[in-house]
Amino acid sequence: MINLILFGPPGSGKGTQAERLVDQYNLVHISTGDLFRYEMGNNTPLGIQAKSFIARGELVPDEITIGMLRNKVEAHPDANGFIFDGFPRTIRQAEALDHLMNEEGTSIHALIALQVDDDEIIQRIKLRGATSGRSDDSDEGIIRNRLDVYKKETTPVFDYYAGQGKSHLVEGTGSIDAIFDRLCAAINALHAGL
Ligand code: ADP
Repeated sequence: MINLILFGPPGSGKGTQAERLVDQYNLVHISTGDLFRYEMGNNTPLGIQAKSFIARGELVPDEITIGMLRNKVEAHPDANGFIFDGFPRTIRQAEALDHLMNEEGTSIHALIALQVDDDEIIQRIKLRGATSGRSDDSDEGIIRNRLDVYKKETTPVFDYYAGQGKSHLVEGTGSIDAIFDRLCAAINALHAGL
């Protein structure tokens, strides 16, 4: 089994790369952002709870997010491994994920962070906002808030897994293919060591 966290600021390309990694390594992709958008689109109680936080560019509270993630992991008992995208975003979520992996008799093998600078991020998200229909992608104030939240609440998750010797940095600019090749090189190096 290989369980990866794909890490990086909003708009760093996690979703795009995760889809390709899923095919390459036969993993189950779990994106908390996509899960929330699905719940909101269907106006479920969970979606209604999440909506106001997402609209402001804040994090959805940990209790809600961790419960949703746990359900999703437990729905795939035969998975070859998972790729977590957009989760964990707080230390509390990271601890909950480690606990859950432990209960499943496995662990997180690596966190791979895509590095992209702020100016490029803001450009990319605005461009995406023009076609994605995501309200949190169209307002520069909300995008900046998401970046602030990332720096304050989410960056510590990188250090948390660095403390376990599991964090890796990958340059997240260039073509989609070039970034994918760098990610595969990092994962293959890791796989060889497992
Ligand atoms: P981004 O492009 O900002 O990385 P995502 O699609 O991953 O976006 O998430 C969109 C929004 O959903 C976030 O800004 C946040 O409000 C909420 N969200 C997603 N994942 C989490 C999480 N693990 N914890 C709390 N909130 C989350």
